Amino acid sequence: MPKSKSIRGLGAKYGGTVRKRYSNIQRVLKAKKECPSCSSLKLKRVASGIWCCSRCGFTMAGGAYDVAPSRKT
Ligand SMILES: [Zn+2]
Repeated sequence: MPKSKSIRGLGAKYGGTVRKRYSNIQRVLKAKKECPSCSSLKLKRVASGIWCCSRCGFTMAGGAYDVAPSRKT
């Protein structure tokens, strides 16, 4: 089974479980988020749990790594 080289930032450190969690977070952070106010995909995380739309300036509270956090932790 070939190792995935697509995830950058951690290298071979920290063990597999942490890297898997990190890669999940990175994927979610890089995904486009739709602004609930203007429906553009400009929603960005400005702080942990705070999301701001760069188009209309709409700011909302959400999950730390995703706008709509999933229940499973
Ligand atoms: Zn917006």
